[in-house]
Amino acid sequence: MPAPALEALPIDTLKGIGHATRERLGKLGLFTLFDLLVHLPLRYENRTELTPIAALVPGVRALVHARVAGIEAARGRRRAVVCRLEDETGTLYIRLFHYSATQLSRFIPGAHIQCFGEVRIGLLGPEMIHPEYRFPTPDGAGPTETGLTPVYPIAEGLRQRTFRGLVEQTLQRLDSGSASLHDPLADRPGPTSAHPPLPEALRLLHQPGTNDAERTDAARERLAFEELLAHRLSMLRRRVEGRRQAAPVLALDVRTRQAFESQLPFALTAAQQRVSAEIGQDLRQAAPMMRLLQGDVGSGKTVVAALAALTAAASQWQTALMAPTELLAEQHFANLSGWLAPLDVEIVLLLGRHKNSQREERLARVAEGRAGVVIGTHALFQRHVAFHRLGLVIIDEQHRFGVHQRLALRAKGDTGTLVPHQLIMTATPIPRTRAMLDYADLDLSVIDALPPGRTPVRTIAMRGDRRDEIIGRIADWVGRGRQAYWVCALIEESETLQCEAAEKTAKGLSAALDGIRIGLVHGRMKSADKESVMQAFKRHEFDLLVATTVIEVGVDVPNAGLMIIENAERFGLSQLHQLRGRVGRGAGDAFCVLLYQPPLGTTARQRLDILRESNDGFAIAEKDWELRGSGELLGTRQTGGGSFRVAALPRDAWMLPRVAEAADRVGAEDSTVPAQLHHRWIGRSIQYAEV
Ligand code: ADP
Ligand code: MG
Repeated sequence: MPAPALEALPIDTLKGIGHATRERLGKLGLFTLFDLLVHLPLRYENRTELTPIAALVPGVRALVHARVAGIEAARGRRRAVVCRLEDETGTLYIRLFHYSATQLSRFIPGAHIQCFGEVRIGLLGPEMIHPEYRFPTPDGAGPTETGLTPVYPIAEGLRQRTFRGLVEQTLQRLDSGSASLHDPLADRPGPTSAHPPLPEALRLLHQPGTNDAERTDAARERLAFEELLAHRLSMLRRRVEGRRQAAPVLALDVRTRQAFESQLPFALTAAQQRVSAEIGQDLRQAAPMMRLLQGDVGSGKTVVAALAALTAAASQWQTALMAPTELLAEQHFANLSGWLAPLDVEIVLLLGRHKNSQREERLARVAEGRAGVVIGTHALFQRHVAFHRLGLVIIDEQHRFGVHQRLALRAKGDTGTLVPHQLIMTATPIPRTRAMLDYADLDLSVIDALPPGRTPVRTIAMRGDRRDEIIGRIADWVGRGRQAYWVCALIEESETLQCEAAEKTAKGLSAALDGIRIGLVHGRMKSADKESVMQAFKRHEFDLLVATTVIEVGVDVPNAGLMIIENAERFGLSQLHQLRGRVGRGAGDAFCVLLYQPPLGTTARQRLDILRESNDGFAIAEKDWELRGSGELLGTRQTGGGSFRVAALPRDAWMLPRVAEAADRVGAEDSTVPAQLHHRWIGRSIQYAEV
């Protein structure tokens, strides 16, 4: 019988794992021996050479062999002991904060000690703060390590040495044949031909020789490739399974369509026509549409959604339109009512604030099928809203939701024997490579041009010390009957701080801008209050809206053509672009002023430059992706559902085209590889992300 696979062996089949250790490993997401081996080191240390004390370099980690010369309690704020060590070349102090009496009792003058740590220059001379140390036997004076020592990203309470021991046991079980590891790419191309096979890659990553440092990169890439392949295969499988279901056939007759277009206040752009045709084509199929509609902020996605909803209504099926906020839901309700009510499509708005009889009455219209379109937030799916015949689900501003949430939602919409068509709309362009993974189950439509007659937003970067000058300009602007946004600095540490800062800014601006009506919205306000301020701004009851990033998504106030963003250097590129998308929605001039606090770092400067030069969300998203990619470390693991264990994007994005090729080939072979890879890399994490 073949030995059990690593991914089938629970982690506590290793020796020396008690309850506490198992819990800690579980917190790191490590449950099987395979999990353990793909938990990669953060970095490596060279402990194969001893450094004489006199040759220690501040800031460098080194292994020292010395003798204990004395021990004393240290002065200072924290309880600590300082131990003086000596070798033939000099004196080194080590400072310990955590220690037990037993540990201390081993620091006997004359005892041999080895310690490893970073050297710095202290008050007394060279010192190491809390180094790793051990007391070798007199004949074990040389270094005990023969290769590089891995340092793992592990949590409080787990020791590096324990973790290394577990990895070593696992590798030994592979060697002895009591556990097996299938290499699904053994006779298939990996990321490049130079990449090591799986068992060798794991060996290299966990137990590299002193000259292997360079090769660990290729080994990591080999694992990343397999992980990305697992994800791509699983998304493709969802695609196939999704398309295997049955959906209602929805079609729009020419007369209704003409009636719709003729009462719009504008003509559809060529781009809107094209994506509407793509959607129409899908809706006529008896398999569910799963389509992602991308279009920059202001590109006019709503009317495309309305046309899709009309198509469903014309075939006697209902549409659920889900917006990320109640405010946006109301905005959609207003727009769709204007466009669809003349065509006798009844539209119902379902919000949290509707209570009792009002709510009952609306729910009844949905349940009886009188409502053709139902608009709301995600509560549309959470509460028990019963549809008569739900034929189409439209999700707006998808970037608020992660891939797992999206998949979970699809499952919720799936009720009867026919599943609804699904259209997902996003203003955050997804870089092509990223889409190959997270959106591989969807077809893609792109609105690649803005409606005509828009003045492009002029973007200006200015030093923060010219703030007063800008405040003066606001007065002129408002004097011309226009409105403006003031976006407060992003304070990541705390939302409370952020809201306080916004309140302070609003006060300051009120004092400086006499006679100007100022509104304030921030994340700490109740959503009803937030929305009433936004609505008042829309009705021009405020001239200036001071806001935190809560205004980022979808709000449409064409008369507001000026936006000032404070401390713009703290925002990400895509976020700045989203914010800027609030202005330039009408005909008049539009400006975006990026106030920054000098000095700017290189990346921050690049970001502001890109924004000044481009209004193209797609170009910006690609750049954002690239900029965010730099500066990531080996084996850093992002937290949160949907992230990878080994792979990191965009760092590994270069291999995605090859991953896609490999996935097609593996899929065509109809082998057991997809299921195996899913089980190995994803199985458990997905399960956890969805609860
Ligand atoms: P987004 O894609 O960001 O959701 P919206 O659907 O909110 O964009 O549209 C932005 C604005 O452009 C709205 O005021 C909308 O009425 C207007 N609009 C949409 N399509 C056109 C068009 N073809 N011509 C002129 N204006 C349009
Ligand atoms: Mg929108």
